Amino acid sequence: MSIDALPAVAAPMIEIRGLSKRFGSRHVLRQVSLQIPKGQTVAVIGPSGSGKTTMLRCINLLEEFDEGAIVFDGDPIGYLTSPGGRRRRLPERVIAATRSHIGIVFQSFNLFPHMTVLRNIIAAPIRVKGMDRGAAERLARDLLARVGLSDKADEYPIRLSGGQQQRVAIARALAMQPKVMLFDEVTSALDPELVGEVLAVIKQLAEDGMTMVLVTHEMQFARDVADTIVFIADGTIIEQGPPKTLFTNPKSDRLRAFLKRYHDAYLL
Ligand code: ADP
Ligand code: MG
Repeated sequence: MSIDALPAVAAPMIEIRGLSKRFGSRHVLRQVSLQIPKGQTVAVIGPSGSGKTTMLRCINLLEEFDEGAIVFDGDPIGYLTSPGGRRRRLPERVIAATRSHIGIVFQSFNLFPHMTVLRNIIAAPIRVKGMDRGAAERLARDLLARVGLSDKADEYPIRLSGGQQQRVAIARALAMQPKVMLFDEVTSALDPELVGEVLAVIKQLAEDGMTMVLVTHEMQFARDVADTIVFIADGTIIEQGPPKTLFTNPKSDRLRAFLKRYHDAYLL
């Protein structure tokens, strides 16, 4: 959601310019350019295999990219490009520092099974940011309250439902106090009755003004929460715009066909 206090011309939190990525001979991202404004939620939709996950992973440099640039809050991600077009990889320490501002949550929860919920959340702030244990625990308890799991601090992940584990994973990402959160189909592995509790947490984050990129198949949710919808197919952004425009008046045949499947399944 937009923040009134920000000037209309504020620099974007993330700017992707001409991003290209190949896996061998497979061209997975083709000249993708996209801006993620500060305080806004951008939902990325599109068929399976279209490059959505790869794009998110490039933003965090979990995946190297071949061409283009990603600028995060004014700083380049991964590489510096000289005016002559030569690329140089940034030092690991610079990459790690930038990455620490970017929270990412995946479809699989990836919690540490041998640690309690509280320890899962405090581990990175203590190890990466050097936060003292007391402060980290206070932060973790605040975050657990925020995701509705105050009573689970001392549980082990295996004792939690999938929806609860995913909310812990979100709290763990938030514990690094990131400037942006990336969500990759975080409800896809959940039983249907657990999806709502996770979406509610994400919706609250949007209302609190977190900058977010949300890859999702939950069309109704994307429509409710996102400021901008981006439709990707075959590694290319086919259309983007406000939810109302894209969902009610898609311009491309690709998007129309994609949305029809959700309409036909009564999911939109
Ligand atoms: P989406 O998230 O939209 O389903 P992905 O970004 O996961 O799409 O994948 C895009 C394409 O890249 C797919 O064809 C996939 O098979 C391929 N791909 C993804 N990761 C790898 C990898 N590590 N090695 C080779 N091919 C990959
Ligand atoms: Mg994916």
